[in-house]
Amino acid sequence: MKSTMQDNPLLVSAILRRGGTIHSQSTVTTVDSIHPTSGAPVTRTATFGDVAANAARLANALRRIGITGDQRVGTFCWNHQEHLECYLAIPSMGAVLHTLNIRLFPEQLTYVVNHADDRVIVVDGSLIPVLCKATGGANAFPNVQHFIVIGEGDRSMLTQTFPSIQVHDYATLLAAEQPVFDWPETLDEHEAAAMCYTSGTTGNPKGVAYSHRSTYLHSLASLGAPVLGLDEPDKLLVIVPMFHANAWGMPYSAFFCGADFVFPKQFLQAGPLAAIIAATRPTVTAAVPTIWNDIWNYGEQNPLDLSSVRSVTSGGAAVPRILMQRFKDKYGLQIMQGWGMTETSPLGSLAKPHKYAQPHEFMDYHDLAGRVLPGVELRIVSNEETGEVAPMDGSTIGEIEVRGPWVTGAYYLDATPEKFRDGWLRTGDMGTLDSLGYLRITDRTKDVIKSGGEWVSSIDLENAIMAHPAIAEAAVIGVPDPRWDERPMACLVLRPGSSVTPAELRQFLGERVAKWWIPERWAFIDAVPKTSVGKFDKKVLRAQHADELLSVVEG
Ligand code: ADP
Repeated sequence: MKSTMQDNPLLVSAILRRGGTIHSQSTVTTVDSIHPTSGAPVTRTATFGDVAANAARLANALRRIGITGDQRVGTFCWNHQEHLECYLAIPSMGAVLHTLNIRLFPEQLTYVVNHADDRVIVVDGSLIPVLCKATGGANAFPNVQHFIVIGEGDRSMLTQTFPSIQVHDYATLLAAEQPVFDWPETLDEHEAAAMCYTSGTTGNPKGVAYSHRSTYLHSLASLGAPVLGLDEPDKLLVIVPMFHANAWGMPYSAFFCGADFVFPKQFLQAGPLAAIIAATRPTVTAAVPTIWNDIWNYGEQNPLDLSSVRSVTSGGAAVPRILMQRFKDKYGLQIMQGWGMTETSPLGSLAKPHKYAQPHEFMDYHDLAGRVLPGVELRIVSNEETGEVAPMDGSTIGEIEVRGPWVTGAYYLDATPEKFRDGWLRTGDMGTLDSLGYLRITDRTKDVIKSGGEWVSSIDLENAIMAHPAIAEAAVIGVPDPRWDERPMACLVLRPGSSVTPAELRQFLGERVAKWWIPERWAFIDAVPKTSVGKFDKKVLRAQHADELLSVVEG
């Protein structure tokens, strides 16, 4: 029997239409600069109504310069109002938004623009020099026909580097257009709305193409109380870059429900962020753990007013327990850990304690990678060859596999059958799943450490080491060992003015982890190398160690 339900396609234009009408008075604040003497943010504010009108102007302008059908429009931008306009206009008109990671290596940038077949690139004036570094010179982007530049910048550099590509000014282009657009209502919800490439620590980046349907469902899910619980009275500070994993879907979620936005542009260091939070008073914000670590350190030396904030989410990498504890003790703020990937839109799980948990257990739950979200399914495959699925016992370690309506089922124009199994995405993360759906991540498959045939969790070890007051950052990598095949090695960054010896650390760890986990090899380094999105880059760390660039101390 067929249902009697209506079957209108789930489209991004519905998010745009709703936000632009019933939430037309909600606001979008962009930080344009930081005052050189006072350190205060200099901001401008528009309404959702203004943003919706500009989205229509942008769609008209893109049509006028020749964008049709599902052609790709790239963005090479920080977080700001115009980027939000791109997020809304490009998919809603039927084209595909391709958010380009501004921190890609030059050859990766050339690769992804051409692989996605971008026709237009919308670029921040301040990022023109970065875009011009793309390898290939004048012929780097054979199919790109137009650049649209937002704000001040060296446009002549663009014309000189890419003489055959036309350069337009975003504001001028929009000023010539009507603030209305006939958004197509009959698009197929399974068509691509946006795409994003994984950072590609090995090999070329791989493209994930989000559909209208997946974006719509992901937005609805993230609004729900079990996830962000975002609502109209909220003000969302979008620290997560919009060029990476859709800024965790938050631009769509907030526009859908009418929550105000604050966009910090490139001012992502702890000092400017603290000033932005104090001046704009957001209620909700999210960022990778590195940013929260920097903000916490900043707050140790400077006044830090977080009193407006009710919800802080962190993920993209393991959130150190000590960091959560410090924020809770000092600011009364519980950092909510989440897990996800570019491939999962990205929200997959969120670490909220369940309703039967006792208060003394809460931090143990926050310390997990999260509880699987409604709509997402997870499983642990404990035997790679047979595909045997482990019981949900919270202890059997295996590769995490995921499926759901906002999880990718393939990579764009990239046959990679080894990344999928029976319709499940193989995440490349190792971990356990318990009977209540809580996920614990022990490692990425490429980072696992197997010592004497047993797994050592680098994430757990890093967590334990970072609890020491002298340690600012700890990254654990596996190094070859003649007796045990592999042993963990700890690479440490000390807090300014602190010192600690490997022997002291060994003793400290003795009370916290299994004895055989405790590393023999310790390296004190100036900084942990980070990936383009601020995660520990263990591949670089391993290479540095192989080249013996570090001062290694056997403790
Ligand atoms: P990249 O692969 O370039 O890092 P993603 O942002 O898609 O790009 O990264 C997803 C990965 O980040 C996950 O597969 C996982 O390894 C890691 N990750 C995300 N959230 C967490 C978390 N809470 N704890 C540990 N690792 C996490």
